[in-house]
Amino acid sequence: MKLDLSRTTICAFLSLASAGWAADLNGPVFYGDAPDEHHPWAVHDRNRPQPKLVTPGMFSSPEQPGKPPSDAVILFGGADLSGWEFEKDGSPAKWVIVDGAVQSSQNGDIRTKAKFGDCQLHLEWAAPRAVEGDSQGRGNSGIFLMGMMEIQVLDNYNNPTYADGFAGSVYGISPPLANALRPPGEFQVYDIVFRRPIYRDGQPIDPGYVTVFVNGVLVQDHTPLEGPGGHMGRSKAGPFPEKGPLKLQDHGNPVRFRNMWYRALPPRPAEGSTDGALPTEVAMAKRKEIAASIRQDAAQLQNANNPLPEMLRLMESLEYEKDDPTFQRVEQMSAQYVAGLKSLPTDTLKAKKDEVRNVNGAFGFLAKFKVLPAGFGPKTEIEKIIKEQGWDKRR
Ligand code: MG
Repeated sequence: MKLDLSRTTICAFLSLASAGWAADLNGPVFYGDAPDEHHPWAVHDRNRPQPKLVTPGMFSSPEQPGKPPSDAVILFGGADLSGWEFEKDGSPAKWVIVDGAVQSSQNGDIRTKAKFGDCQLHLEWAAPRAVEGDSQGRGNSGIFLMGMMEIQVLDNYNNPTYADGFAGSVYGISPPLANALRPPGEFQVYDIVFRRPIYRDGQPIDPGYVTVFVNGVLVQDHTPLEGPGGHMGRSKAGPFPEKGPLKLQDHGNPVRFRNMWYRALPPRPAEGSTDGALPTEVAMAKRKEIAASIRQDAAQLQNANNPLPEMLRLMESLEYEKDDPTFQRVEQMSAQYVAGLKSLPTDTLKAKKDEVRNVNGAFGFLAKFKVLPAGFGPKTEIEKIIKEQGWDKRR
């Protein structure tokens, strides 16, 4: 992942030297706890990429489907079923579309042509208003994540059945935490967060989880997966592919679906994400990468007439990686900076009070996290200046 060290960051540094310790748009510097062996980012790290911008959609009403968020992939928006095919033979899916909803027919299960894995999935379904059948025979369909794992669709409004086959169950594995269904005929809203199992060399790295809300009520709470689930058979955990189609079940009951979309989810730490607590080796590799980006940024700040912004940026990079050449350069620049301060007439020095105190703060921060060695010469010197000027006293 490339760091976005934008112009705002650079501008913030330029203003830092002239206007004091201004925080830039992404946060202050030399502030929260430094990176450690499991966390490549500092606490409140201003170098950390900004969250992706997503324009939210609109919630549905009983009468009409809502609007998906801006980054959603639409699986069915009310009219077009061309992204779906019959599972049995890959022929075009011929479930009927009625009033903006697609209704299961008795021609078999359908699946998306597109394959995807970890996702936030949204869909809405409605069982027939006229009640027919009971238990598993009333308004039965199903949502098969990656074509394998069924989140049950069933009209359980005043209709008991075995608990692990309820609407919102991971079928055959985990009953829902509640029965939050609306009466038949009304649309039921499912929001699903799916993290597939991750295996490496046949060994589980992450069991995978599913979280499900039915009509806004939590019914699966980060439920660990135990393999695909299924009818009658005990499920066995095992390697999963990375992607699969979304499948809708034809269980012989007419069930309508509308407003189906998903958002692909970013990778987990086990797959290369650098958010969260990481193994030391991964955290240190990322820290090295961040340090390199900051040094690249520092190089843009080189200015013989005003070396402070570059010096501070290089100092910041040492939080992530204690690189000898960078340390030596910081030591040299700091010594020059302090010598410059010492040569200033008193009035000019006094005007630099905030700047000097802030540089001292940066030294103190880096010393606290042992990025600078104890007795770092320029730090001692700058502390002396601060004391001589009486800038250490509280007003
Ligand atoms: Mg089913």
